[in-house]
Amino acid sequence: MRAQILESFNKPYTFKSDHPAPPAPQGYELLIRVQAASYCHTDAVFASGAMQQGLPRIGSHEFSGIIDSLGPEAEKVAEKRGLKKGDLVGVPGRAFNPCGECSECVHNDGDMPGYGVWCTRARNLGLTRDGGFQDWCLVDSRQVARVPETGGMRAVDIAPLMCAGVTVWNSLEAAGVQTAEGQANGEGKYVAILGAGGGLGHLGVQFAAKLGWNVVAVDTTPAMGMLDDVVKELGEDGKRVHVVDALKESVEDVKNRIFGAAAQGLEGEKGCDSSIILPESQAAFDFGMAVLKNHGTCVAVSFPKDGWKFKPGDLVFRHIKLVGVLTGRNRQLQAMVDFAAKHGVRARIRTYPLEQLNGLVEDYHKGVGGKLVVDMQLKP
Ligand SMILES: [Zn+2]
Ligand SMILES: [Zn+2]
Repeated sequence: MRAQILESFNKPYTFKSDHPAPPAPQGYELLIRVQAASYCHTDAVFASGAMQQGLPRIGSHEFSGIIDSLGPEAEKVAEKRGLKKGDLVGVPGRAFNPCGECSECVHNDGDMPGYGVWCTRARNLGLTRDGGFQDWCLVDSRQVARVPETGGMRAVDIAPLMCAGVTVWNSLEAAGVQTAEGQANGEGKYVAILGAGGGLGHLGVQFAAKLGWNVVAVDTTPAMGMLDDVVKELGEDGKRVHVVDALKESVEDVKNRIFGAAAQGLEGEKGCDSSIILPESQAAFDFGMAVLKNHGTCVAVSFPKDGWKFKPGDLVFRHIKLVGVLTGRNRQLQAMVDFAAKHGVRARIRTYPLEQLNGLVEDYHKGVGGKLVVDMQLKP
């Protein structure tokens, strides 16, 4: 079968057309024929050697594929979840074969019994076990998302939702935008999304606007074009999105423009209810804290390598809550996919044949924008 293999850090992937196919699925495993595999920032971090994990490795931890065969335990899971051979599923890389015994696996907030997405003993596809840049892949029947029959979601639409989508969906739950059940929560409030034109950000803007929230969509010049297009495509819902170029407007300008000038001494009453920090930058974090009103929630998804400086006074005197988010639970993954199918939330994608993965990586580093996805059907 075809596969793209990372054999050394900071080197291109090696393409092989005769890589051995995985063995028949055991236990909870599904063998899937990969249809699409998306490139995530973490793939770039992994390829740089910064994660100190073993090589060789087949990357991609957000992909989609068709179920070909099922292990004995996977048969039972599939029956419970309404999945069968021939179905298209989305595959998030996290939590392949978790231990079933640790606190994460036991206290899993309503996911399948014994399945914890943050189990530290589980493997992660594309990082500690081979992922989606290959024709066939073994995945865990408990980790996948069902793809709704209605909504017209293609394999290339599903793949980028499996890391970027679920992560931003979880951050929207942490920000109070939607409930654990994926229902809109307190429509008409304001969430600021820092890095709104990026891979996670442009999905977050769509989800939040379609959940009825007002969105302060903050980015800097190179991403603004795509952000404007996303807002246009949102139609009526796009009227609730306020696009901010952070190089042109200060946080005070933005608050005055959107909320009006604050009365003397009541500055803490004006601002967003929550903010989500997606870029690895101090400037984004500072903006995201300052744009909040008192008692607001700041959700951190990324941070600079050397950490941030923050003002403890924001937490104590202004009562700001600072919370972190990494990927999301299976119930969130499924709610996110169902919502995206129903409401037409789509990642903006560029597709490449598997043979041209190294070209995709070059484009990624050039910052071409949108999510870059390998479409297994494309011919080189
Ligand atoms: Zn990722
Ligand atoms: Zn565990």
